[in-house]
Amino acid sequence: MSKVYVIVGASRGIGLELVRQILAKDETSIVVGTVRDEVKSKSAFQSIEEKAGGRLHVITLDTTDETSIKTAAERLLQVFPTGIDVLINNAGILERDASDLEVKASTLESTFRTNVVGPILVTQHFLPLLRLRSTRIIANMSSPLGIVGAEILPWNDSLAYRVSKAGLNMVSATWTRALASEKFTVVSLSPGWVKTDMGGEGGMLTVEDSVSGLVKEIFKLKEENSGTFIHTDGQVLPW
Ligand code: NDP
Repeated sequence: MSKVYVIVGASRGIGLELVRQILAKDETSIVVGTVRDEVKSKSAFQSIEEKAGGRLHVITLDTTDETSIKTAAERLLQVFPTGIDVLINNAGILERDASDLEVKASTLESTFRTNVVGPILVTQHFLPLLRLRSTRIIANMSSPLGIVGAEILPWNDSLAYRVSKAGLNMVSATWTRALASEKFTVVSLSPGWVKTDMGGEGGMLTVEDSVSGLVKEIFKLKEENSGTFIHTDGQVLPW
C-alpha cells in the first residue's frame, strides 16, 4: 500500500524539499504538503506537481489556528479515509531578540505558539488518522539549539527559539512514552544548519543535502528508534 506522508509547513525551505525528495525517492508515496496560503505557494509546487503524477496534495493549515488545524484534519480524512502513515511537524519560526538577556514576552509567546503549541495541536488532531494505519510515525523538526548542554554557537539572541526547541524535544520524549503501547514511533529530527530563509546564507548545508540525509533516516525509522533525536547524518543527539 502507498505510504501517505504529511509535511506540515511545506511552502518553502526544508518542508518543500522534503515533499520533493520523498515523492522522488519513494515512487509509490503520496505526499501532503500543508501551506498557509495555497495561492501564494502554487508556483513553489509547480515543477514538483508535474513529476508527481497526482501523488502530491496541498492543503491549507496555519498551525497557530486550531480551527484551521481541525479543518485540515477533516479534509485529510475525506481524502484519505484509510489514514496517514507519517506526520512531519516541520513548520517553525525563528525570532531574535536584542540579546539573550533582553527577551521580550512577545517573542517568547509567538515562538512558543508556532514551535511547540502548533506541533502539539496538529498531532492531537491528526492522531486518529495515524491510528488508522500501522506505520504510526511522528517526526518533530527540532534543532541542536534545543539541546540543553549544547554550546551557544555564534548567537546570543535566540533564547526564545532555543527554549521552544528544547520544549519540542520534551514533547517528543513524552509522546514516546504516551504512545508506546499503540506502537507509535516518535522522534525529533535535526536538519543541521541549513541555507534557507531561516538558516540564512551562512548555513553549512544546502537544503538538498540536509533533506537527503533526513529522508534516509525517515525511511529507516522503526519503533525501536522511538524516543531518539536524530541528526541529518544519522547521529543520535543528546536531548
Ligand atoms: P523557513 O523559514 O525556510 O520555512 C519555514 C516553514 O514553516 C515555511 O513553510 C512556513 O510557511 C512554515 N510556517 C511558519 N509558521 C507557520 C505556521 N504558523 N503555520 C504553518 N506553517 C508555518 O525554515 P526552514 O525550512 O529553515 O526550517 C524548517 C524547520 O526546520 C523549522 O522547524 C526550523 O526550526 C527547523 N530548523 C531549521 C534549521 C536551519 O538551519 N534552517 C536548523 C535547525 C532546525 P510560510 O511560507 O507560510 O511562512
